[in-house]
Amino acid sequence: MLSDREAKQQVLQITNELFAMGLMTATGGNVSALAAEPATIWITPSRMYKGGLGEADLVRIDGGGNRREGERTPSIEWQMHFASYAACPALTGAVHTHAPIATAFGIARQTFPPINTDAVFLRDTVTVPWILPGSKELADAVGEALKKSRGCILQNHGLMTVGKDLRDAATHAMVLEETAKIVLYTKQFGGDVSLIPAEWVERLARLAGFV
Ligand SMILES: [Zn+2]
Repeated sequence: MLSDREAKQQVLQITNELFAMGLMTATGGNVSALAAEPATIWITPSRMYKGGLGEADLVRIDGGGNRREGERTPSIEWQMHFASYAACPALTGAVHTHAPIATAFGIARQTFPPINTDAVFLRDTVTVPWILPGSKELADAVGEALKKSRGCILQNHGLMTVGKDLRDAATHAMVLEETAKIVLYTKQFGGDVSLIPAEWVERLARLAGFV
């Protein structure tokens, strides 16, 4: 378990990285990590520019959305973060991004063909249909989706990824965006698409739980 100081530093580090990569937009997307006190999380604030957050901008809240530390208003997606942790008790970090290519991938109802190993590992990615952002209904649907996969696409909205730690959750978001980008490029090239042979897809899929 991380100390509060470590958890806050990780939330800021990951938010800065995702913003620099263009996966987090100016005000879209949010990041959380479990806090030292059980059943509370550190989360990024609502509506603030995500490119320059400091420790004082982070908020610690409980499962009812009550602020325990910090002055800012927590992200409106706080229920989605708590639903994600509830879905799998081993998780300690959660990332919601508005990554543009993976978001468009969901809008265009794409799936991951076996074009590389990452695409095979991502093939269980669940797409959650459009539900109002910030709602309890969206939180519940994401919680259900994350029981089946470590990441899901929120249709007409963005992504939610989780991990045993925040680095793991962020890596999953980055890999989803990169792989959606390769699918996009592949379709733009057109022509004959070369896929990993079916027997290899099955062998690789069995390794997915170990990466
Ligand atoms: Zn969002």
